[in-house]
Amino acid sequence: MTTTAPDAEATASCKELENRFAALSPPTRLYIDGRQADALGGAEFDRVSPRDGRVVARVSAGDAEDVDVAVVSARRAFDSGRWSGRPPRRRRAVLQRLARLVEEHAEELALLESVDMGKPYTDALAVDIRVTVQTLDFYAEAVDKSYDEVAPTGRDTLATITREPLGVVGAVVPWNFPLMMAVWKIAPALAVGNAVVLKPAEQSPLTALRLAELATEAGVPDGILNVVTGFGPTAGAALGRHPGVDAITFTGSGEVGRLFLHHAADSNLKQVSLELGGKSPQIVLPDAPDLRAVAKAVAGGVFFNQGEVCSAGSRLLVHRSVKDELLALVVDAARRNVVGDPLDPRTTVGALVGEEHLERVLRHVHGATADGAQVVLGGSRVLERTGGCYVEPTIFDRVAPSMAIAREEVFGPVLSVLTFEDTDEAVRIANGTDYGLAAAVWTRDLSTAHRMAGAVRAGTVWVNCFDESDLTVPFGGYAQSGFGRDKSLHALEKYTQLKTTWIKL
Ligand code: NAP
Ligand code: MG
Repeated sequence: MTTTAPDAEATASCKELENRFAALSPPTRLYIDGRQADALGGAEFDRVSPRDGRVVARVSAGDAEDVDVAVVSARRAFDSGRWSGRPPRRRRAVLQRLARLVEEHAEELALLESVDMGKPYTDALAVDIRVTVQTLDFYAEAVDKSYDEVAPTGRDTLATITREPLGVVGAVVPWNFPLMMAVWKIAPALAVGNAVVLKPAEQSPLTALRLAELATEAGVPDGILNVVTGFGPTAGAALGRHPGVDAITFTGSGEVGRLFLHHAADSNLKQVSLELGGKSPQIVLPDAPDLRAVAKAVAGGVFFNQGEVCSAGSRLLVHRSVKDELLALVVDAARRNVVGDPLDPRTTVGALVGEEHLERVLRHVHGATADGAQVVLGGSRVLERTGGCYVEPTIFDRVAPSMAIAREEVFGPVLSVLTFEDTDEAVRIANGTDYGLAAAVWTRDLSTAHRMAGAVRAGTVWVNCFDESDLTVPFGGYAQSGFGRDKSLHALEKYTQLKTTWIKL
């Protein structure tokens, strides 16, 4: 694994991307009512790139008063009907234009994302930006092809059941897939006619601000998409408490998700949907087809995006009889990763989002060692001289289900390996955390696969694959991984309310 020798071509490519970034001057101020604005209090914060610890931008730090201005603007825009009142096909056209603009600016957006939060530029382009475009297209396409209902009430009545937008939606998102997760929320919310106030994570505000500009260029009316950058406990909480916000759609930690439920209860009972963390198990039975392919999927499933993935397959649950063989293959696959500069085209594992998070990840690693788990790969910070936040892919063997490393979300490149004797035990361990976001089962036996998919408590279960997905399927959690779904037509349910109109004929 790991860090690479200098290579002229790769160095030139990094330099070229660095120069392009330097030439960008991305927007850094709040985006309210179709234009940039300073925070009313004038506060700003530094964006430190985890690539090398350098400050790459100073961004406005919005507070409660800015959130209020944004919400008032969103409310005014919503009530005016200049978006919600348009025929769906015209909203479709605007969102499709936005999709094309994101496509045209793909390299710029990928670069902003990569430098801001540390993921490999190549992944930002191939995954984040590509899925962002697909998401915009999907909801644009959906909105003028969704019909409402007529209830079977009998001849003397006409009762219609129609879906109406909620009004003002507050979206609060994390830093691991900043643009993509924002758009998983914004696209369906806008498609059905809502106005949105988005609060990106403090670690990754740049693409959200650029998206808002592109939205205006695409024809999204002023006030329909607002972005308030700033900190969670100030701007985020103000959005959660605001009486003018009709719904909060949140992705992030369980701890903060809970706060939004409190905020809703303490204010206007706004709807809240939560996409929270996970501790996804990959369950490997002795008859799994092709252990080499399993190993590749296990390593990919936990080290992709530096392990900063809510559905990361951070627990390998393997039948005792194939453990040694599989573990050797997983270690081998993990070693093929290249940890390094997110702008280096050879990098597969970039920088963790920041120092504070890196320390949290290392605390988990040290805790696991103290608890008796055995490091078989990695376990350390690397490339410290770069000033960046790099941790090597790490694998723990001999993990017991009761250990913290088997139960708590690390959100870093750390895999725990546990063994089981039979499928009942596998399911028991799989379901033995507070989470229930995703899981995978590897077996040739169709009946076993189907039975286990039913028994594992998770919003998504993959069979003989991991992380497969597209816009047509919902994504979200069971248990403390949250409620409400992103993606697919089901996401539209979060951004609409049902109206019954009963007409006596
Ligand atoms: P986080 O700390 O919960 O932050 C998420 C968002 O909430 C950020 O915009 C943050 O703003 C804001 N926030 C923080 N404190 C707040 C408060 N007191 N009131 C209101 N808002 C507040 O999570 P994170 O560290 O960014 O992201 C990692 C977590 O997200 C992990 O637990 C991961 O599993 C989860 N996640 C889940 C999914 C999913 O789909 N289920 C996807 C991705 C991530 P600031 O950062 O600016 O303070
Ligand atoms: Mg945070």
